[in-house]
Amino acid sequence: MTPPKLQAPRGTYDVLPEQAPARLGLESVARRVLEGAGYERIETPAFEATELFSRGVGASTDIVQKEMYTFTDAGNRSLTLRPEGTAPICRAYVEHGLHTRPQPVKLWYLGSFFRYERAQAGRFRQFWQVGAETIGADDPAVDAESIALLWTVLTELGVGGIELRLGSLGTPATRADYRGRLAAYLRAHSEQLSPEVVARIDSNPLRAFDADDPGTQEVMAGAPLLMDALAAEDAEHFAEVRARLDVAGIAYRLDPTLVRGLDYYARTVFEFTSGELGAQSAVGGGGRYDGLVEQLGGPPTPACGWAAGVERILLSADHRPLPREVCDLYVAGVGVHAFALAAEARRAGLNVQLELAGRSRKGQRKQAERLGAVHVALVEPDGALVLVDSQSGEHVSVAGPTAAVAQILKGRHL
Ligand code: AMP
Repeated sequence: MTPPKLQAPRGTYDVLPEQAPARLGLESVARRVLEGAGYERIETPAFEATELFSRGVGASTDIVQKEMYTFTDAGNRSLTLRPEGTAPICRAYVEHGLHTRPQPVKLWYLGSFFRYERAQAGRFRQFWQVGAETIGADDPAVDAESIALLWTVLTELGVGGIELRLGSLGTPATRADYRGRLAAYLRAHSEQLSPEVVARIDSNPLRAFDADDPGTQEVMAGAPLLMDALAAEDAEHFAEVRARLDVAGIAYRLDPTLVRGLDYYARTVFEFTSGELGAQSAVGGGGRYDGLVEQLGGPPTPACGWAAGVERILLSADHRPLPREVCDLYVAGVGVHAFALAAEARRAGLNVQLELAGRSRKGQRKQAERLGAVHVALVEPDGALVLVDSQSGEHVSVAGPTAAVAQILKGRHL
């Protein structure tokens, strides 16, 4: 009996070589835009103590309740594959005392994240996010600049049909008060709501705005809105954010029902969608999370950030892959002389590819074309060496590796 075929786990995928250039292109645009604005790269571990997410993301969120890959390691610790990047970065900010550096600390990241979700087009169980966090400043310019930078990344990558939705959640105090009023409203209409929404009236009434079922949606159309209940200073902060987006020419739609699935947001929240995507239309989003650093044991620290899905950007963007590396030299020959030439040429900084499949002369010609090699070295078993200039077709006998490398470098600098 043949053993069952091994496949990548459900909700995961392989990046094959032909898909790599588009991802590299994305990384290079994100890096240029973000580092150009003073963001520095940060990397955190792929797994963290489970408590970081239950405390940081929120115990009643979908992520923590249903979607985490949690396991116990051999040392009996509960660990979780990171479902998002903000809580780990705030953990690192506290752990390494980054609050003693000039504020705000501006960080960006690119990495993979894990959520046990129903896999479908644009939704994976291991997915990649590019993100940026600005920690240690509450100026409305931070919110507006964050949004503008994500807008620039998406636009430069050619993501089509972008729409920006914007809202404000106020401070935790306003939100707590509003939650009470919303819960009372939901309880008064509970017979029209879906059982899932009813079950969460006390733990997370805001999620009722996200519900798909028509009965709940009808009730929500008349629900009180948080944006109408903001305290004066939060309303002012939000107006200042909008004023900056207006002068930057970034269009947005105010959406009082924008909730987002994580508990740590306060004040500004935003989400970009793309018309090029189907049901999973969110490409990226984020907001302000002024209480998170303190909740994780740090000093009171305002902060704001976003994350965007790499797969969704690639699905909705026109592809502008980076050009591949030039092959300066293809060494068409086998044996120690061929190897010595490749080694010397690489030491001189040239991009070299060796013949590894024992091709015939005819096969080698084809291979040189496939690689787009600028030069081909024909190496005989006794070490005799002929250098071919692919463009002119000129063949020159050279004395040895050093002379060959010198000749190639001379051509390169012309
Ligand atoms: P979130 O951390 O949920 O705010 O997600 C930010 C962005 O990450 C979303 O707008 C998506 O583009 C992307 N994203 C979130 N979850 C997934 C997933 N399961 N598969 C692919 N992309 C995702």
